[in-house]
Amino acid sequence: MSHNDPFVGALKQLEKLKNLINLEENIYQQLQSPQKFLEVSIPVKMDNGQIRVFKGFRSQYSNARGPYKGGIRFHPQVNESEVKALSMWMALKTAVVGIPLGGGKGGVIVNPKELSASELEKLSRGYIQAIHKLIGPNVDVPAPDVYTDPKIMGWMLDEYEKLTGGGNPGVITGKPLSIGGSKARSYSTAQGGFYVLQEAVKKMSLHNVRVAVQGFGNAGATMANILAKNGYKVVAVSDSKGGIYNSEGLDMTTLSVHKEKTGSVASFFGAQNIDGNILFQEVDILVLAALENSVTLENAEQIKAQLIIELANGPITHEADEILDKAGKVVVPDILANAGGVVVSYFEQVQNAYNYYWEEKDVLEKLAKIMTQSFDEVWRKKEKYNTNMRTGAYALAVERIGQAMKDRGWI
Ligand code: GLU
Repeated sequence: MSHNDPFVGALKQLEKLKNLINLEENIYQQLQSPQKFLEVSIPVKMDNGQIRVFKGFRSQYSNARGPYKGGIRFHPQVNESEVKALSMWMALKTAVVGIPLGGGKGGVIVNPKELSASELEKLSRGYIQAIHKLIGPNVDVPAPDVYTDPKIMGWMLDEYEKLTGGGNPGVITGKPLSIGGSKARSYSTAQGGFYVLQEAVKKMSLHNVRVAVQGFGNAGATMANILAKNGYKVVAVSDSKGGIYNSEGLDMTTLSVHKEKTGSVASFFGAQNIDGNILFQEVDILVLAALENSVTLENAEQIKAQLIIELANGPITHEADEILDKAGKVVVPDILANAGGVVVSYFEQVQNAYNYYWEEKDVLEKLAKIMTQSFDEVWRKKEKYNTNMRTGAYALAVERIGQAMKDRGWI
């Protein structure tokens, strides 16, 4: 197993926490693996008439605090360890923000960019056929993740309802608005990240900050836009094809048009291409919004930003985290920084249950309240245990999960 194995790293973090907060052995042992893990094969008849069999997973990590909750990722690098780690982080995430849900995650090994729309639809429906007995609005509730979107959630909901008979919109979140989605869900991950970024900026008394954003997908591009609209100078951004820099700040409106047209931020006329790594730019804040393992033992020392926001899940390896910590960097961890997505997913479920839908401003107000309050609670744990924000967030989450386990009589 490589030293960047996500689940090994996630368990190491838990081990570190165990000693720090004197975590009871009976709780610790139950957090070492998912409660249930399913591997499925999904045969899809491709447009050329041939069958291709895709491998998929669903990991149900913990339902101590409520139904399993977490997205479904379609990506060529999906694997068992990644899905397990992501499902554990979901259990911690829902606990950090105090919503009554547990943690789960799903994934399919596929590059969806290589599929036609009808192949993608068949795969999405096939995945639900394979896992539908394991999910339900009060059991396990999937949502979008990397390379999945509301359209895919729409197909999945439809398939679930066909299989089980009847309307059940709360079984999946991140749906299109026309079939029970929530206002603001499409940009809630970035919006939530922005609320906590602002809290961190206040705590650290940063002024006239320059920001770099790694990753220009749903989370990264939206975050860059929100930052620019709120007067932050976004000087550098990157995607999988390249990076760009402009010391005066990038113009987000024209950049979005450029990305739409060319498929990348690279070679944008309003900026210069970055030769080196986006991580090494002279900035005050670095937003990590790509995939896992972006910051590693090999590159962590060269990061200049004082404040790092993990909008992706697990972008910093365990070893890199220790380097950043020693260098005095403030890292706002994924399980807090990107929790805005699942918070609005929870709001979506509540709206589905009531069959009554909220105004956008009401969703945002409630999201802001949860995110700023959670930031404060994590900060207080960090101070209490004289540690960093990640360990503070883990402490808060594990204490809450442990309490639920006790109250259920599991220990
Ligand atoms: N995939 C998102 C995450 O990693 C959202 C999960 C959800 O809404 O359930 O937090």
